[in-house]
Amino acid sequence: MSKSFFDEGDLVGVLTTQPLDRVLDYKAPEGGCHLGAFVEVPLGPRKVIGVVWGDGAGGWDPSKLRSVIRVLDVAPMRPDMHDFLTRAAAYTLIPMPAMLRLATRAPGLGDPPSMQKVYRLGTGEVDRMTPARERVLAVMEEFGGLAFTLRELAEQGGVGTSVVKGLVKQGAVFEEATPRDTPFPALDPGRPGKPLTEDQARAVVQIGAGDGYDTTLLQGVTGSGKTEVYLEAVADCLRRGRQALVLLPEIALTAEFLTRVEARFGARPAEWHSGVTMTERRRVWRMVGEGGAQLVVGARSALFLPYRDLGLIVVDEEHDSSYKQEDGVLYNARDMAVLRGSLCLARVILASATPSLESWANAQAGKYKRVTLSSRFGAAQMPEMRAIDMRDEDLPGTRWISPTLRDAIEARIAAGEQSLIFLNRRGYAPVTLCRACGAQIGCDHCDARMVEHRFLKRLMCHQCGETKPMPSVCPSCQAEDRLAPVGPGVERMAEEAAELFPEARIAVLSSDLYGSARALKAHIEEIAAGGADIIIGTQLVAKGHNFPLLTLVGVIDADLGLQGSDLRAAERTFQLMRQVAGRAGRAAKKGVALLQTYQPDHPVIRAILSGDEEGFWSAEAAEREAAGAPPYGRMAGIVLSGPDVGPVFDLGNHLVRNDMALREIGAQVFGPAPAPIARVRGRHRVRLLVKAAKGAPLQAALSRWAGGVKLPNGVRMSIDIDPQSFF
Ligand code: ADP
Ligand code: ZN
Repeated sequence: MSKSFFDEGDLVGVLTTQPLDRVLDYKAPEGGCHLGAFVEVPLGPRKVIGVVWGDGAGGWDPSKLRSVIRVLDVAPMRPDMHDFLTRAAAYTLIPMPAMLRLATRAPGLGDPPSMQKVYRLGTGEVDRMTPARERVLAVMEEFGGLAFTLRELAEQGGVGTSVVKGLVKQGAVFEEATPRDTPFPALDPGRPGKPLTEDQARAVVQIGAGDGYDTTLLQGVTGSGKTEVYLEAVADCLRRGRQALVLLPEIALTAEFLTRVEARFGARPAEWHSGVTMTERRRVWRMVGEGGAQLVVGARSALFLPYRDLGLIVVDEEHDSSYKQEDGVLYNARDMAVLRGSLCLARVILASATPSLESWANAQAGKYKRVTLSSRFGAAQMPEMRAIDMRDEDLPGTRWISPTLRDAIEARIAAGEQSLIFLNRRGYAPVTLCRACGAQIGCDHCDARMVEHRFLKRLMCHQCGETKPMPSVCPSCQAEDRLAPVGPGVERMAEEAAELFPEARIAVLSSDLYGSARALKAHIEEIAAGGADIIIGTQLVAKGHNFPLLTLVGVIDADLGLQGSDLRAAERTFQLMRQVAGRAGRAAKKGVALLQTYQPDHPVIRAILSGDEEGFWSAEAAEREAAGAPPYGRMAGIVLSGPDVGPVFDLGNHLVRNDMALREIGAQVFGPAPAPIARVRGRHRVRLLVKAAKGAPLQAALSRWAGGVKLPNGVRMSIDIDPQSFF
């Protein structure tokens, strides 16, 4: 046990965010410091931020030891957070400094609480009134005594900032400085929610209330009211005076959710995601720690905020693959939410229409409680699902909308209803082929083909983001005008749809077509209100957005996800197709989902059509169990990468030959093999796969095995525990 307070001059161990593999010793500063205090320490010539992690290791000449420079003016890290970071690092094998970086992702933590200028209505007379000045004063009157920042006020009034400044000079507007990091407006859990249906009320009772840790899998088709149900759990948590966190997979989703929170609790919660300004991040980080934020809605990194007393974590769309960060630090936010909940005695709710097999299996095993909502709210029903057997459709090779689907869309247009054409491929065409020499245009840095984006008039690599202009001659044989697009992307579908339905209003929804989350959101709202007859979209539309007028979903290529060797291909396809279909008929009108497929008898396609979810999961679980695959066995992926392929393979072979530590726990290593994408951003990638039995101490063995190797110059190793995909 470490001391909880260190007097001046005591030896303390400080964990910093710098990539060092150990905790460093310092002397406690004047006035002493608490265990967990955020501090600034000298490191070589620099000053860096760290946390007082425990007793110092000692063994130094005390006169050589440097002192902590100062204690930062933020709440010390709480013991449950300390445990969380330690346990999360042990599980994911993410080094501790990187863990601490996740937990301190806000700017200016060391700064004193800063001030900002705000503007209120003053009492001075305006000697010369102009329309612009009038607008500013009208805005201020409309909002009563509220304070504005200069920018807000200028924006609201539709004027330049000089107009506001002019009013300040006259005394009609009053300028003052206030602290920037103010608490968030109070949420009122006492306000009534929507009256719940019997099914929903039963779910709320089953989830239960209280303060201890447990995890519930809340399963229900899209539109069944899962959100209404978990908002009740949020209300219960707030009533207990504890904090709640709701994780959502996509930023674009938060807007709709924030509006619902405001309607339910009378104010907006704190937001934490990549679209939030730096100033606001800092405010959220501090307020979460001080208790000035009751509810946080955010992306996965919101799990690493310094909650004062976290009582509930909701992971909405828990199966979503965006919870697993696939670059940089590799962790699965769903699993980390359960870990965090267990350490801070918070309740955890995993909500999904199509849970991950992991969560399903945990519920089957009795580790999680399982609560099911069986029907859609109100008159809404699950859509009817049918296959279109593409072998029977008469379709030329450069067309993808079958006559059957075309007729169905035509009928919707005539009825004034919306159709969604779903294709999970961005851009115009996935491949550009030279008809003279047969070459396909690839990325210069990656082992990937470049995707034509016709709106942008460029080719783009979806691996590294590199773009180049569309060439007019073949880069390989210089033939002119022989380059041809092969296969469809959403932009090409839009072209085909425009030809088939010349009168229809067509909108394309694809993440790359919008400059900002805000622009995307505005566009989605416009479409939902009836601004389009046909929506053409990627998986972006599958996630939670509500289109009340939508009654038909046409899936262009239901077989797309079934190709490839990915462990989760079946699970992903099942989830995605069920979710996309769920977009149809969310209001009173019944929807239809039509799946174009060349293999209508494929077991996964049949499971999707029949809606036999339990049957699908049982079959999928049995297959994985037989193969010793997760969640019935353990896996880790190791990707080695470097600028030259030789040293990378050599290291892979070296690791495979020296696998004692793995054999000791009965684990096996496969490889080395070129990764499915063998080159990304000019780096060659080689993959090893480790498989172990379910109870095996995999992380400890991996650390002993791979932790000790010396990486040749330029070679990097990344370890992925429970890999989601093999790329
Ligand atoms: P899910 O999260 O399962 O997709 P939602 O909670 O978003 O479902 O509910 C779907 C729609 O039905 C929403 O517009 C929601 O406001 C509405 N709804 C659900 N339950 C109720 C209820 N008990 N009373 C009124 N509206 C409800
Ligand atoms: Zn590339």
